[in-house]
Amino acid sequence: MKIKFLGGAEEVGRLGIKMTEGENRFLVDYGVIPEKPPEYPLPPEKVDGIFLTHSHLDHAGSLPVYFQKYAANFYATLMTANSVRPMLNDSIKVASLEGYPQPFSKDDISLLYNSFQNLEYGDEHNIGDFSVTGYSAGHIPGSTMWHFQNSESVLVTGDLYTRQTNLLDGAKPVKADTLIMESTYAGRDHEDRQAVIQRLRSRVMEVVESGGKVIFPTFAMGRTQELIMILDKLDLNISVDGMGNLISEIYLETPGFLRSQNEFRRALGRVRKVRGPRHRERALEESDIIITTSGMMDGGPVLGYVEQLLEDTSSAIFLTGYQVENTNGRSLMENGSIDIAGVNVKPKTKIEFFDLSAHAGHSDLVKFVKSVDPSTVILCHGDSREELLPDLSEYRVILPLNGREFDL
Ligand SMILES: [Zn+2]
Ligand SMILES: [Zn+2]
Repeated sequence: MKIKFLGGAEEVGRLGIKMTEGENRFLVDYGVIPEKPPEYPLPPEKVDGIFLTHSHLDHAGSLPVYFQKYAANFYATLMTANSVRPMLNDSIKVASLEGYPQPFSKDDISLLYNSFQNLEYGDEHNIGDFSVTGYSAGHIPGSTMWHFQNSESVLVTGDLYTRQTNLLDGAKPVKADTLIMESTYAGRDHEDRQAVIQRLRSRVMEVVESGGKVIFPTFAMGRTQELIMILDKLDLNISVDGMGNLISEIYLETPGFLRSQNEFRRALGRVRKVRGPRHRERALEESDIIITTSGMMDGGPVLGYVEQLLEDTSSAIFLTGYQVENTNGRSLMENGSIDIAGVNVKPKTKIEFFDLSAHAGHSDLVKFVKSVDPSTVILCHGDSREELLPDLSEYRVILPLNGREFDL
């Protein structure tokens, strides 16, 4: 088998893995780096099947570009297909708002969906000379590790989380000869998740009891819903604003992917959904907690809420996701300041970070490799991959580069 990364080999984002064996040509993911301006993978190359691991844009954000030029079957779980559609539509909107060229149109998104084939977890499908099976990757609802089997087997993890969260069970290892694994957290381990959640809940209570509100700048996909579950225990007034509401609806309407559909339905029922700008003032008045996009504070309703609370020393901004360089979120963590409509401001609110990452930390990545027990490990989707090498010395490890095809 030949493998070529069209993107995402030595970086987090724009993942695209082309796999070729004989007549069989597959592509796993085709994403973007959602920066300003967005960075795209190498141009598409003709394949027969495209397998999507999950609906984050760093994995899916360029898929419609492929369909401008070629056709192929588009394989994903129903949850991934349902939830990625609004993300792709939104990325067209964001590009036009920020004045970047539109890489694709709504028609290209329709072409992608005309080619959709629903693959359920655990079902084996004969595709070309391969038998292909999807397994939960534990990262967000619908996220999938793809297992390709013919004379040898290859497992592609996509983004991977191996521990239980409020929404999902962790990914279970699947035996394979070659493992293509993400490595976002190579060299770093997470603080114990239960300890983080305890601390998060008690800090929220302290802020609310002192008369303040907590703003959670949060990604729409996965993290919004995980926070709704985590904060449900506190019996406070919670509002959710932005695209997280739409994604929550999709999670409810696509059964079979959450640990407990009923628990999520119940928690969601207690949350107020903010339906547009006119309702924001009331949400701020009546809520203790506001969960809102964007997760890195570079746009979306979050900025409006923060603007209202700039002088409020009893309120707080709690970040729970990784903050990319050159974003408002990163600047808030490092300098306590953000840019709102071209003006640099320093909110007087408390600012704290809680690590609720849905990527496996270093030790869990190593443990996962040992359980899959491959002969070859290919590390991607990370900018510190070499940190894993000392712990994987008994394996043949490949650190691929974008655009350079190699033989397994
Ligand atoms: Zn992801
Ligand atoms: Zn990713």
